[in-house]
Amino acid sequence: MSEVIKGAVAKPTATEDSALRDRVRGIIDDIRDRGDVAVREYSERFDGWSPESFRLSAEEVERIVATVPQQVLDDIRFVQEQVRGFAAHQRESLRDVEVETLPGVRLGHRHVPVGAVGAYVPGGRYPLTASAHMTIVTAKVAGVPRVVAATPPIRGEVPAATVAAMHLAGADEIHLLGGVQAVAAMAVGTESVGSVDLLAGPGNAYVAEAKRQLFGEVGIDLFAGPTEILVIADEHADPFVVAVDLLSQAEHGPDSPAVLVTTSRSVAEAVIEHVEKLLPGMPTVDFAGPAWRDHGEVVLVESVDEAFEVADSYASEHVQVLTEQPRLALERMRDYGALFLGEGTCVSYGDKVIGTNHVLPTKGAARYTGGLWVGKYLKTVTYQEVTDPVASAQLGAVCGRAARVELFEGHARSGDVRAAKFGDAALEW
Ligand code: NAD
Repeated sequence: MSEVIKGAVAKPTATEDSALRDRVRGIIDDIRDRGDVAVREYSERFDGWSPESFRLSAEEVERIVATVPQQVLDDIRFVQEQVRGFAAHQRESLRDVEVETLPGVRLGHRHVPVGAVGAYVPGGRYPLTASAHMTIVTAKVAGVPRVVAATPPIRGEVPAATVAAMHLAGADEIHLLGGVQAVAAMAVGTESVGSVDLLAGPGNAYVAEAKRQLFGEVGIDLFAGPTEILVIADEHADPFVVAVDLLSQAEHGPDSPAVLVTTSRSVAEAVIEHVEKLLPGMPTVDFAGPAWRDHGEVVLVESVDEAFEVADSYASEHVQVLTEQPRLALERMRDYGALFLGEGTCVSYGDKVIGTNHVLPTKGAARYTGGLWVGKYLKTVTYQEVTDPVASAQLGAVCGRAARVELFEGHARSGDVRAAKFGDAALEW
């Protein structure tokens, strides 16, 4: 039996959600109708940003990259190597398949990259440089030929490190454009932005909703909205570390849930105390404070097994496991975006440096998908070939009968023709 020691006080209501949905739909429709003119109006309205061209020229990119301190560039290169290395291993694990299922019948599948990706790199509150590594490097490892990258200006300034990361990651086009207007322009195409086949990358509630609405017209990687963290802690966990780690994700924004599930009442109480002490001194208290107040939760459970069950029911984006045997979570848990096992690592490593992808499912999407990885940029397409006439005649006869059960005479005749041509069947029509 679990006991809620601190509950969330605010859950998004259906009306808020539907107002947001309507607003996003309106912007997408307008951009579809009026193209670049509408994109410019929304960029002015939401970001106060209306440069001559939203797309950066090669010379502009070069000039911006030159302003980025050497240490920052070195760190970007280091992190991109980690992301690239892990993504390359994942790519290698995906084998093409070809198998002879009957004599002379060959079936296969291949992994083919999509032709063009729109990589959204968030930047409303913070310049999320690391999202450039996650979306663009991974697309390039998958073999995507055209990667269009977009990020908003941050309070009217060009996010130089993010532009450098986009460039070093291999983006083919870089646009300084944010929010719904960016993802809609990349999806539907405007006079100045050629449309893409798939949208990738995280974003705030507007960006995530826009991607959801555009799905179908283009592919999307996944629903990757406002960040979430859930920490599982037993009595061995260090409450100070737990508090620091909860706040590391709460600072993403006032809508970011931070949840502790613990087997220890004293850990629960100590974590709450540390959070309250740490919060006022955080430069990002304006986001982390409301996130903890409104969406922070502390749940006491009776066992680590119960903690895994409760954690699964949240299907949280990030689950940090601070227990005596953290690897047990690999066997016991099903619904999460990424696991962080033991005190030696943390969600911030995943976000910024370690090499697993930080674009992860939120709002329960972890029940049906994992995060971004090379596989999301690849289409698994099949093919078939029959070189043995006996096999084609046999398949033709079965095809004719099977199709007629479904009243598909045209399909049946394609089978009949082969049964006659490669076997001894007679055409009866
Ligand atoms: P963002 O780039 O996602 O959004 C900024 C844009 O929002 C602006 O350019 C603006 O055009 C638009 N916008 C702002 N107010 C608007 C309004 N009222 N109506 C319509 N559009 C509006 O940057 P952000 O806001 O800082 O959010 C980044 C988000 O990404 C955070 O919520 C963070 O938690 C999330 N994130 C998620 C993951 C993941 O994998 N799930 C990873 C990293 C970050």
